[in-house]
Amino acid sequence: MTFPPHDLAGHLARLIEQQGPISLATYMALALAHPKLGYYMTRDPLGAAGDFITSPEISQMFGELLGLWCLDMWEKLGRPDPFILAELGPGRGTLMADALRATALLPEFANAAHVALVEISPVLQAEQKRNVPSATWYKSFSALPDGPLLLIANEFFDALPVRQFQRTDLGWCERCVALQPATSDLPISFKFGLKPDPLAATLLPTAVRDAPEGAIAEISPAGDTVIAALGARLHAQGGAALIIDYGHTRSAAGDTLQAMKEHRFTDPLAEPGLADITAHVDFENLRKKAAGATTYGPVEQGDFLLRLGIGARAGKLKQRATPDEIHDTDAALHRLTGQTTMGRLFKVLGLTGPGTPAPAGFE
Ligand code: SAH
Repeated sequence: MTFPPHDLAGHLARLIEQQGPISLATYMALALAHPKLGYYMTRDPLGAAGDFITSPEISQMFGELLGLWCLDMWEKLGRPDPFILAELGPGRGTLMADALRATALLPEFANAAHVALVEISPVLQAEQKRNVPSATWYKSFSALPDGPLLLIANEFFDALPVRQFQRTDLGWCERCVALQPATSDLPISFKFGLKPDPLAATLLPTAVRDAPEGAIAEISPAGDTVIAALGARLHAQGGAALIIDYGHTRSAAGDTLQAMKEHRFTDPLAEPGLADITAHVDFENLRKKAAGATTYGPVEQGDFLLRLGIGARAGKLKQRATPDEIHDTDAALHRLTGQTTMGRLFKVLGLTGPGTPAPAGFE
């Protein structure tokens, strides 16, 4: 069968025809980041008209408070000048723009900062350029210039490809993406398959390795690479980082793969390149692999933002606001900190180099 060359589903189908079933990580990497057809490469997925919404897009308070966290950390580090102020996966650049505005009260901070945005999407980079004109762009964490580092990553690690394994009567098998036989209605569709992998168990955290038959386990090789490099860098060059994402505090078995399109969950295999695909972040694993850095938390996002003073910031915003704006601020506060909204599912992990005073928000 010949597949249409123009879309990502066709590209993946040809790849599978040539090579056999591909790992979920390969599927996810191509679906999100294929240089021409990947989801992030072709669109701005954020906001009401897009597929999902993130904390900085919900309220300016989020980026402002993280900016003040950076300012406090910069003081604690002894005001390094110059230093690298970096963000991984900055979306529209809203967080960094709000952070820089909030830190303008201390011009020495902005003057010392080399603002570095790590982004692969040309569409989002163009949007970031509008919102953070002073930034410099990099394609990967490892490309950042040397120096003391303050880094933020909000909903970055969840977008990195995961491998999944399932325990069967044959032991751990890798979950792969295979082709479904074509029908006239659906010439191309995908399904999950399993490939026995005797080495899989060695890749899984001990707590997960002994999960019962049927259990699904996930690892993120790309996430592991970034956190190891970040830990080593904080150890060698100093600085601090905040990783904010939805995920679990302890390593555990479970299938957390999900796809979102137009604010609804959809089948991750249904429309590669047209839906966002993510997996929950294993914070215990990040803590373990951040070799060389001191880690704090993870704590729940709600607790973290309340400790940084989001309540007072909301009060301030409401002082000079219309009734509609007061309502919006209260709604945003609830959404960012509430137990049933983002306040609990989202976690915050802090990292610092050796000998650095404890960061705010984790006490
Ligand atoms: N942090 C933003 C956007 C989150 S969406 C916010 O909170 O609104 C994920 C972001 O990570 C997007 O900007 C996406 O283009 C970027 N991204 C995804 N994979 C990436 C990778 N491998 N390297 C760099 N950026 C990546």
